[in-house]
Amino acid sequence: MDTKTAEREDNRKREWSLQDFEIGRPLGKGKFGRVYLVREVESKHPVALKIIFKEQIEKYKIQHQLRREMEIQSSLRHPNILRLYGWFHDDERIFLILEYAHRGELYRELRKHRRFTEQQAATYIASLTNALAYCHENHVIHRDIKPENLLLDHEGRLKIGDFGWSVQSRSKRHTMCGTLDYLAPEMVENKEHDYAVDNWTLGILCYEFLYGAPPFEAESQKDTFRRIMKVDLSFPSAPSISAEAKHLISRLLVKDSSKRLSLQKIMEHPWIIKNANPRGTCDI
Ligand code: AMP
Repeated sequence: MDTKTAEREDNRKREWSLQDFEIGRPLGKGKFGRVYLVREVESKHPVALKIIFKEQIEKYKIQHQLRREMEIQSSLRHPNILRLYGWFHDDERIFLILEYAHRGELYRELRKHRRFTEQQAATYIASLTNALAYCHENHVIHRDIKPENLLLDHEGRLKIGDFGWSVQSRSKRHTMCGTLDYLAPEMVENKEHDYAVDNWTLGILCYEFLYGAPPFEAESQKDTFRRIMKVDLSFPSAPSISAEAKHLISRLLVKDSSKRLSLQKIMEHPWIIKNANPRGTCDI
């Protein structure tokens, strides 16, 4: 039995219940439930407990998808992917035991500081690129990065939060108050798409980290759609951003998905080499 399978077996053997946790403060509220900071009674280890109401899951008919996503996330081991240690349920709720991301949402930090330094931005982009490369190596596909899913641990290390429900939450974003800002042209057009949608999103995030707003932002969804389809990209003169950063962004925001820079090439890009902290940690 390989280590991964053994660990997975361990996860199954351990039957968790609410009694195993001391409930602390609420950490946030998501589409499907609430998240609390809790402490495992035995080890005193802090973890995040996500509570999902079964009714909601049934309403959106995503029981099977949630199950699959939970299996996948709990089998992944990467410093930039939030660990899912296990789960349990009662009659009404499903409880996910997640790694605790002490510094919370990356986007809250971005809004607070307006924009990141080139060192911070490069460190986050390198972390995301590494995590995506690991997913692809493990044949985990369709891992689109959603900005609201990026969390920071106590050292400022980026963690991709939950992986689930990408299809559902995306269609929700389309139809409801969601934003198109992070979607690749092939996705806003509902065309077939592959891994390369993530590379586009890396370009969008890189721009937003440096300039403080996504590149195709507009008054209406229709205008954002038009700007994405035209790849209407411009770099404001302020703040002053290095030519290398702009080069990387323009090599990712390419309409033809087969021509976007690969994950490997992102890691070798001079801007990443020069600016990213190899430890992946970031002081803000
Ligand atoms: P979600 O349901 O995943 O959208 O989570 C709702 C909110 O709870 C997030 O936006 C975070 O602010 C917070 N949160 C979720 N998971 C964690 C975690 N593992 N550690 C810290 N905060 C979290």
